[in-house]
Amino acid sequence: MELVGFVHVGNTFNEKAIAGAYRRVNNYFKSKNLPIRLVYLGELELGPGYLVNIYTDGGSVKGYPLEGITELLHAKLIHAREELFEKKKARAEKNNSSEEEVTMNKIFGIVNFPIVSRNPYLDFYEKFLGIQQNFHELKVMVLSIKPFESENKKLFEDRLFKGILHEIGHAFGLNHCQEDCVMNPPKVIAEWDLRRDDFCEKCFLELKRNVRGETD
Ligand SMILES: [Zn+2]
Ligand SMILES: [Zn+2]
Repeated sequence: MELVGFVHVGNTFNEKAIAGAYRRVNNYFKSKNLPIRLVYLGELELGPGYLVNIYTDGGSVKGYPLEGITELLHAKLIHAREELFEKKKARAEKNNSSEEEVTMNKIFGIVNFPIVSRNPYLDFYEKFLGIQQNFHELKVMVLSIKPFESENKKLFEDRLFKGILHEIGHAFGLNHCQEDCVMNPPKVIAEWDLRRDDFCEKCFLELKRNVRGETD
């Protein structure tokens, strides 16, 4: 089983939609028989100092600096891995039965504010979707829910669900796709709403292969 740490970064807005999307993602992987599960690691509170203003051509944008967020998530992942290791050790001492291999090399941060970066390669690279950063074999994913927000709670949760699948797809080596598929990134949010809430067949098979490959 591949565990993906899941953290809510920032103030407690939108908790219901986030919890709903989280459950839906795990139900999805379960129903598809894929050995991937999100595991909730709690909330990561940020002091007001974390929020910065960045001046762009389009005016001033308030957001979290990407680099600070990914570093915090990386530290959280290392801590969660240590706890997982201790738990495994304690269990192994109690009973000698060989348990299913459980790993946690990835962490997913849901952020309430826009993510900003001074790095021109990342700036507005994927407006509606997230960003990933590797720390050797560890992978940090960040997704801002700001562009997904809607008064329509069901729509909001749908957008979020697809966004999480998209990032997890990348984390397991998938690239963008041209089909009606969560790996096909939208140019505008209306396009995202029309997108099927699933991987296309080709992406799904690749995901399945890559998950097996990593756990072998
Ligand atoms: Zn993408
Ligand atoms: Zn696809």
